[in-house]
Amino acid sequence: MKDVRDVWDVVVVGAGPAGAAAARAACLAGARTLLLEKAELPRYKRCGGGLIGPSQQALNDAGVDVAALSRDHVGRLTFTSRGRRGFTRAAGPFLPMVLRSELDHALVKVAVEAGCTVRTGVTVGAYSEQDGVVTLGTSTGPVWARAVVAADGSAGRAAAYVGVVCDQVDIGLEAELPTPEGSDWDGRVLLDWGPVPGSYGWVFPKGTSLTVGVIGAHDQGQAIRDYYRSFVASLGLDLTTATHDGGHQTKVRAAGSPLHRGQVLVAGDAAGLLEPWTREGISFALRSGRLAGTAAAGDVSSYPAAVESELGAEVAAGRRALTAFTRHPGVVHAVMRWLPPMWPLFVELVSGRTTMAEQLERRRVRWLVSAVGG
Ligand SMILES: Cc1cc2nc3c(=O)[nH]c(=O)nc-3n(C[C@H](O)[C@H](O)[C@H](O)COP(=O)(O)OP(=O)(O)OC[C@H]3O[C@@H](n4cnc5c(N)ncnc54)[C@H](O)[C@@H]3O)c2cc1C
Repeated sequence: MKDVRDVWDVVVVGAGPAGAAAARAACLAGARTLLLEKAELPRYKRCGGGLIGPSQQALNDAGVDVAALSRDHVGRLTFTSRGRRGFTRAAGPFLPMVLRSELDHALVKVAVEAGCTVRTGVTVGAYSEQDGVVTLGTSTGPVWARAVVAADGSAGRAAAYVGVVCDQVDIGLEAELPTPEGSDWDGRVLLDWGPVPGSYGWVFPKGTSLTVGVIGAHDQGQAIRDYYRSFVASLGLDLTTATHDGGHQTKVRAAGSPLHRGQVLVAGDAAGLLEPWTREGISFALRSGRLAGTAAAGDVSSYPAAVESELGAEVAAGRRALTAFTRHPGVVHAVMRWLPPMWPLFVELVSGRTTMAEQLERRRVRWLVSAVGG
């Protein structure tokens, strides 16, 4: 017979942005909360580390000092299409760049300050539920909870337990490379619309290093790998000098995909919650994590409606943008280049002063997106 004191109010699996946000929210709602993470912290995470406006907002709300974490603050953007037809636009700094090892560690610290207990080096392998208590099988023995937020990322096990269905699977390939001396990457991002439909590449500056990557449909794996190698080479960079070089899947949930099974909720990448076009996921992880932590500490059944209300419109708008971009990447490039209002609008979108969903409500934008097939 288990001792009732061994049952946590909330256990969170995974200490990425979704898990740390969930743990903090559950603590703030008064729940006795345990956060389990398989790695030791700080740990490397393959990610561009670009913080769009909603990420900055969520981090500020959580008391994380974004300015102190920023390795660069981007105000210039160079756009290319398959490496050609380049042009650069500038604005005041609007996109901070962070290292995920540092960001995620800072988020765990604020969760601990809110009262959360953290155990690292613990891998959760199995989920089961009986009589309102969830049992987690872990590498260090069983753990019990009244509710669990599973935020174990796109390759985790929780999605299968909950029955998450994803209808978009992509592969991101990315390397951390030393910034060449005398180069012009300070405060400047490069975005390249790629040769594989729906793909794009990026260079994100981090001071002494550059994060260089591409993303596109997983079933186009070989073409995406070819794009990655030629993109890096075209920039005069050398993958043999990379400190990290590899791939990671991202997945987008199908409409109506489950967000919980009984008392086990999924958040962030584990739930397939990210923006379908840009595959931006930090803001979705922070926001869904907060919603999941609050629901886990109270009424689990409130979680799907909360996610739909806060994130549903953005996911739907991102799908339309991806469809248009997949069909006509050249048109997207030309519109960015030749329509003067597009750059300030782009900056507003990235800064979070407007959303794609709001823009699609505007007659002219709706017409433009429909005209390119979105
Ligand atoms: C190449 C690439 C570039 C990207 N660039 C950006 C970007 O610039 N900006 C942006 O907003 N988004 C970006 N994203 C998306 C972003 O990285 C993810 O959406 C985000 O990391 C999701 O956070 P999460 O907390 O859900 O999952 P994760 O960050 O993946 O965290 C999951 C955590 O769970 C732990 N874990 C896994 N399994 C277990 C287990 N069984 N037991 C215990 N712990 C476990 C892991 O160790 C990890 O710490 C990028 C993605 C890729 C692939």
